[in-house]
Amino acid sequence: MSEQAVIQQTQGNMSLIFMQNPPVNALSKSVRVGLIEHVSAALADDAISAIVISSQQQLFSGGADISEFSSGDFEPPLPEVLALIENADKPVVAVLNGPAFGGGLEVALACHYRVTFADNKVGLPEVNLGILPGAGGTQRLPRLAGVAQALDMIVTGKPVKASKLPGVFDLIVENPASLLSDASQFVSKLVEDGAKVKRTSDITIDPATAPAELFAQYRKGIAKSARGFFAPERCIQAVEAAVELPLDEGLVREGELFMECMKSPQARAQQHFFFAERAAGHVKDFDKSTPVRDIKKVGIIGAGTMGGGIAMNFANVGIPVVLLELKQEALDKGLALIRKNYENSAKKGKLTAQDVEDRMALLTGTTEYASLGDVDMVIEAVFEKMEVKQQVFKALDEVCKPGAILASNTSTLDVNEIAAATSRPEDVIGLHFFSPANVMKLLEIVKADKTSPDVIKTSMKLAKTIRKVAVLVGVCFGFVGNRMIEPYGREAGRLVLEGAIPEQIDKVIYDFGLPMGPFTMGDMAGLDIGYFVRESRREYIKHDPSYCVISDKLVEEGRVGLKCGKGVYLYEPGNRTPVPDPYVLDIAKQEAERLGVKQREISEQEILERIIFPLINEGAMILEEGIAAKSSDIDVIYVYGYGFPVHRGGPMQYADEIGLDKIYQAMCKYRDELGEYGKHWFEPAPLIKQLAEQGKGFASLNK
Ligand code: NAD
Repeated sequence: MSEQAVIQQTQGNMSLIFMQNPPVNALSKSVRVGLIEHVSAALADDAISAIVISSQQQLFSGGADISEFSSGDFEPPLPEVLALIENADKPVVAVLNGPAFGGGLEVALACHYRVTFADNKVGLPEVNLGILPGAGGTQRLPRLAGVAQALDMIVTGKPVKASKLPGVFDLIVENPASLLSDASQFVSKLVEDGAKVKRTSDITIDPATAPAELFAQYRKGIAKSARGFFAPERCIQAVEAAVELPLDEGLVREGELFMECMKSPQARAQQHFFFAERAAGHVKDFDKSTPVRDIKKVGIIGAGTMGGGIAMNFANVGIPVVLLELKQEALDKGLALIRKNYENSAKKGKLTAQDVEDRMALLTGTTEYASLGDVDMVIEAVFEKMEVKQQVFKALDEVCKPGAILASNTSTLDVNEIAAATSRPEDVIGLHFFSPANVMKLLEIVKADKTSPDVIKTSMKLAKTIRKVAVLVGVCFGFVGNRMIEPYGREAGRLVLEGAIPEQIDKVIYDFGLPMGPFTMGDMAGLDIGYFVRESRREYIKHDPSYCVISDKLVEEGRVGLKCGKGVYLYEPGNRTPVPDPYVLDIAKQEAERLGVKQREISEQEILERIIFPLINEGAMILEEGIAAKSSDIDVIYVYGYGFPVHRGGPMQYADEIGLDKIYQAMCKYRDELGEYGKHWFEPAPLIKQLAEQGKGFASLNK
């Protein structure tokens, strides 16, 4: 209803128009209609001399209502609203009482004057949705903020403080509390002085401020971060148009570039991901009435790679941590490493020396379980061995207070078995952090059979507190992420056995958009990690004598990867650049002969399909088994935990984009072509077959 989404008050000779469309003042149809109605009425009213557009919500406006993108109903289009505002013959003043993003900022840019407070933030984040600002943002922002500043805001999507944008704002007040009265005085004065309208379209950019070199340098600077993305280059072209063309022509060019982006699979993928991330927080296991436990102090068992990183997450947000190791020496080593990490951040200017001390002061070490009596949650991060985990949980059961949450950071082990070592399995949960735990955003929350809903709800809330993106999953070997990475790694190894070359495979995966291919990743993580996992599962893989044989051989020869200077690749001392080693191809040749595998040249397409499709197939089985609740949850796990390119939307969205029928057919083809190996590993998941036959995608199950 337009009356509700936009309200109007008359104050003397001013028409005050407020957008009020909670929660973020999205520019939904009702807001656009309301703005047109009220601006038109004010223009027609002789008693009105100036128009103010503002909001009574926390945000000025969060931008377009992206749920409308799929409906295709853009009437009245935002540019039409903005043309009405810009062409108004009475001064229109935007008063930004809170952040303005995307279309919200574009509304402000189309006004004749802008007023806000110094710390307010504004930005054009459209690039994160695979598109560009399509309502004049790429044309008006460079005219007001300067080309270099606007280019950076539009291409990175990062918000900027108003105080950094003196060209955009006509009045920037220090104190947000005085904004409304200061803005009111500003507008009264404008009217008194008979101030004219001041249209952004009348500004011409001096080409000397934006030489071709500036754009060339900028393109070079973002080459790495924007690799594989479609929208950033279109954003740059739109800003180039702002320099070269008058506003009306620039707007046409912006519109064309906007449509190019909008029609790209990347826009669909990135918009899917935007919703996927938000949907991950909505789970059926609890509701509003489920209580949340207070987490004021945390215990961590094991101060190794993961324990130390996990501890930092809590110290970073002011939650005290007790770290337990069995030996003082290991404890000292763990704490020293945390200090070193913080000091490195301080050296880079990300923390002050005082921040380092404050955070370290929140961490205490102990070798006694008795010190954990008052913690509200414990996260165990000891060796990945069931006996060790069970011992730890038994000890925790004895010392922890009732109601304390007992969590394990296991990557693969059965959380039900761990819970069974305690007298309170309802308090036990898996909290699977990713390495480095202080950096990676993903947290897989593993619900065991008896985990209580309030433990799940508390864990999901805590994830937000420590700035992680949480996805709830069920118990199975490797949970969602590591279970799906298993076929990915297996197939990469098998392809080398069949004649592909590691660097060829790594390049295909890198070109697909992951930060690195499977062999570079394996060497970095340490080939021994996968080896130990295989050792614990020989029974399950014994039917396939080719299973990761090359990697097994390398580990058995002591070639465990980057940390020892040789794995699948060779490394010069102090240099992380992988150098191909023909010796690995010799091993592949010998093993292929021994196993009767025929070596051949393998196409890039086959490499991509054989690595990515089985990963998707495993995802389908995970969905069938209910280990993940939604295909979009799997996408969130893969983008945040494994560097799957967000411009593909995650593996399940990628599958939907190319069509499940194609995946089904390819899986059948490899199943039939690859003999026994194919029969075992390439059987399509029944869910893929079923959805392909119905002409549907995984996303249809999320509705
Ligand atoms: P790590 O070897 O670096 O650290 C383990 C630490 O636990 C060591 O410092 C060790 O002294 C300590 N420890 C062992 N037994 C203990 C006990 N009984 N009581 C107290 N301390 C004990 O190992 P990590 O890489 O940090 O892995 C820890 C856990 O996290 C494992 O379950 C692993 O599967 C999981 N994990 C690891 C990664 C990774 O990439 N490293 C990622 C996710 C999850």
